[in-house]
Amino acid sequence: MSNTTVYIGLGSNLANPVEQLNTALQSIDKITSTKLVKVSSFYGSKPLGPQDQPDFVNAVCQIQTGLSAFELLEKLQKIEIEQGRIKKRHWGERLIDLDILLFADEVIHSEHLTIPHSQITFRDFVLIPLAEIAPGLVIPEFGNIQNLINTLDESYLIALSH
Ligand code: ATP
Ligand code: CA
Ligand code: CA
Repeated sequence: MSNTTVYIGLGSNLANPVEQLNTALQSIDKITSTKLVKVSSFYGSKPLGPQDQPDFVNAVCQIQTGLSAFELLEKLQKIEIEQGRIKKRHWGERLIDLDILLFADEVIHSEHLTIPHSQITFRDFVLIPLAEIAPGLVIPEFGNIQNLINTLDESYLIALSH
């Protein structure tokens, strides 16, 4: 099994989000040729897009995988569906959202997969948990994570214990 280091962003704002994240983390650890290595703290965040929805709980995890980025995306989408994700509206509420943030130092720009994740530089709920488990990380195309955090507008994240 080749061993690629990958970071995944998790988010939920329905039906006990902390439990949704924990369930997803267990499922991620069970993906074939894949091992869960690290999990950040859980953070409370304000929703993007429509504001008439509950706050989100977000976290980031690090895995080691022998899968390709496209194979991994397929597995993560399967977990989202198994956990009952129903897409209601753009950037709206969801039971679980699993985004591939980084796949080693690969850069992918294809129709169904963009890596590094296209929104990575704008989101405190991604950058702050990512820096927690990977301080000093250099993000392909965008550079040092601490520099990116320094360019964020004010952050409204709250670290939750879990
Ligand atoms: P955002 O991408 O802004 O976080 P979202 O997570 O709400 O929005 P989704 O509806 O979950 O968007 O995903 C839409 C599509 O994004 C997926 O079907 C998938 O093909 C594509 N996609 C592109 N790059 C990635 C990535 N790095 N991780 C996960 N999905 C991705
Ligand atoms: Ca997302
Ligand atoms: Ca997504």
